Amino acid sequence: MAVMQYTEDHEKFRDRLHRFCMNDVIPCVDQWEKDHMVPKSVWQKMGREGFLCTAVTPEFGGLGGDFLYSVIALEEVAKTNQYGLDAFLHSDIVVPYIDAYGTPEQKHRYLPGCVSGDVITAIAMTEPGTGSDLASMETTATADGDSVIINGTKTFISNGVICDLIVLAAKESTIENPYKSISLYLVDADTPGLKKGEPLDKLGVRSQDTNELFFSNCRVPKANRLGDAGSGFVKLMQKLQQERLLVALLAAFKAEFVLDWTIDHLKKQGAASQAVQFALAEMTTEFRMIRTFLDELVVDHMQGLDVDMETSMAKYSSSEFANRLASRCLDLCGQSGTLEMVPIVRTFRDLKVTPIFAGTNEIMRGIIAKRMGL
Ligand SMILES: Cc1cc2nc3c(=O)[nH]c(=O)nc-3n(C[C@H](O)[C@H](O)[C@H](O)COP(=O)(O)OP(=O)(O)OC[C@H]3O[C@@H](n4cnc5c(N)ncnc54)[C@H](O)[C@@H]3O)c2cc1C
Repeated sequence: MAVMQYTEDHEKFRDRLHRFCMNDVIPCVDQWEKDHMVPKSVWQKMGREGFLCTAVTPEFGGLGGDFLYSVIALEEVAKTNQYGLDAFLHSDIVVPYIDAYGTPEQKHRYLPGCVSGDVITAIAMTEPGTGSDLASMETTATADGDSVIINGTKTFISNGVICDLIVLAAKESTIENPYKSISLYLVDADTPGLKKGEPLDKLGVRSQDTNELFFSNCRVPKANRLGDAGSGFVKLMQKLQQERLLVALLAAFKAEFVLDWTIDHLKKQGAASQAVQFALAEMTTEFRMIRTFLDELVVDHMQGLDVDMETSMAKYSSSEFANRLASRCLDLCGQSGTLEMVPIVRTFRDLKVTPIFAGTNEIMRGIIAKRMGL
């Protein structure tokens, strides 16, 4: 079995990023939570220091790093116990669409800014009436000369307020088959006809600017389409393996943060009862098992294997485990586990989203069952 192997360069990258997180992220998190927003200057600093879009090739300013750099970036940012600086969404979920499917012209126009943090991206698929069933989306792209005219509303868009560029999924109005009608368009956020909503007031991930996007006769050049008309659904499916693996890892990193904090806290409180000791022993065991599975999947993913079923297993099991663990750890803290000043209260809230996005956990179970031939 191949194992994850971090090199000296990976570790140097981790050390530098860790310092950035200690100096430029952790002291600011409380303010970001209040603002529902992370200042653009932090994204830019993160970009200038080489921590964004590490997979992008040096031709466009990136590091040309392997997936382990993405895993390190996810882990170090997850440990800051905030969600607003949603760098993995930008670096490892949205930008890979441009990197993989963009024309040379599109890549030259956008990738250097994505790497430097001057161009922050969002991906807009979900609509008020369309979540899991993407094929039923209603946002349309209607051809008009060299452009398409976009009409529709997207909702729950992460980085939706701060973004400069949106990868938008819209239906070509002339194509009937819903699975063959979705296209992906690169939409500059300052395009006339696009209006951004205010950040939604959410239960968790409160420092993140999740919002609605309103498209009203928004004219986008056809040259901004990623790939052929109607190829969007397949492209979205192709990129889901990495997205789900990242969310599974994110949940595990946050679970580790909660577990470490709780063990440390309870040790400081003095001798724990056997019930508490057993609870922590069980959670640590389960965490190790999930982490081993995830590490194996990282290697498989890096080798280009089809681990769609396994990443679906990882996504649902890791996110559900992390939510259970966070709830149990708060219980173990007793009354102090209800105080805002206890850091794992925020993690508990932030974890609530992990079973929902990147495909809900029911959808994950459906994929697994299908792959099992059921
Ligand atoms: C904080 C946050 C950030 C987000 N960021 C983004 C973003 O950046 N871009 C974006 O496009 N979207 C984003 N989303 C939206 C997210 O992708 C959707 O919430 C998700 O796809 C689920 O859609 P839904 O909420 O409409 O639920 P629905 O699809 O309506 O599902 C409701 C319930 O029914 C279940 N269900 C649905 N279909 C089935 C089925 N076939 N079988 C069994 N059960 C089923 C679901 O599991 C769920 O429990 C975000 C959401 C949140 C909360």
